[in-house]
Amino acid sequence: MHSELEQLLVLQDRLQKIRQIQTEIKTLPLERDHLESQLAASAAGVEALKQKGRHVEVERKKLELDVGTRTESITRLKTQQYQTRKNDEFQALGHEIERYENEIRKLEDQELELMIDADKLKAELEAAEKSARASKDSISRQLTDLDAKSKALDGQQQEFEKDRKALAAEIDADLLDQFERLFNSKGDAAIVAVEHGVCTGCHMKVTTATASRVKAGKEIVNCEQCGRILYLGQ
Ligand SMILES: [Zn+2]
Repeated sequence: MHSELEQLLVLQDRLQKIRQIQTEIKTLPLERDHLESQLAASAAGVEALKQKGRHVEVERKKLELDVGTRTESITRLKTQQYQTRKNDEFQALGHEIERYENEIRKLEDQELELMIDADKLKAELEAAEKSARASKDSISRQLTDLDAKSKALDGQQQEFEKDRKALAAEIDADLLDQFERLFNSKGDAAIVAVEHGVCTGCHMKVTTATASRVKAGKEIVNCEQCGRILYLGQ
């Protein structure tokens, strides 16, 4: 094979590796965001349960106050009942007392329901806090791993970049220029094999003349369809 072609193939290998690493590096912030939003979601879940718990507590206090005012009213009515000498007034006060007592029973039933709700919420909160702690641990481990991965990729990129510079320095400037322009515009490869008379870059048949120039290996030959530099494969 043309020795410059061999150099270009090695250079292309390094460039492809650099490109791959850069693609991986680009996904890192997305992975980080994803992990951080998972963390935020579990914290928000815990906070929502705490909020619910506070709400139930406020409602329960309100009911307690309502019971309190009715209990006071009953005490007041009982005093009036004790003081009156009129039978019909005594009975009327008795009805009012009964009404308040019924209300108190209803309020206490509601209070009991809220206490059951509060117990359920407490258990839910404990479970949510436990799972939030676990996911926090796992997510911070994953974030640490991401940092390490990011550093490793940076290091690899620098190594390949060093290789690339050394290789590029040995290649003819015009050829290097042509190669780099092709590599950047094609997105995959600038130098490809001809296999069974077909360019493996664009998958078109090359002319017989092109095929034999590639086979001779004495010069740089481009695919007449896609312009990629050709070397002899199988
Ligand atoms: Zn081609």
